[in-house]
Amino acid sequence: MPAKGWVEINDLYCKACETCVTDCPKDVLALDMSRLSPRGYHPAYMARPEDCIACGTCAVVCPDAAITVYKGTPPKKEGEA
Ligand code: SF4
Ligand code: SF4
Repeated sequence: MPAKGWVEINDLYCKACETCVTDCPKDVLALDMSRLSPRGYHPAYMARPEDCIACGTCAVVCPDAAITVYKGTPPKKEGEA
């Protein structure tokens, strides 16, 4: 089943507190241990984007307002058919 939504996470605001990771009911989010943000944190990212239901929980619980939730089909990444 295609994802029902997607989220954008602003690296400039994310401080890797993991609240969104633990509160997402679909276990979509994780901290990206392969990357450092400009502030020196491993930022949150969509580890399992196909499971997002656009519930908005992550955006509500983020203490730094780093997350924006979108409903619908996620945009294709560059290079995807
Ligand atoms: S919108 Fe809901 S399902 Fe999607 S990442 Fe955020 S908390 Fe998880
Ligand atoms: S809740 Fe916000 S600040 Fe915390 S890890 Fe998620 S996006 Fe980053």
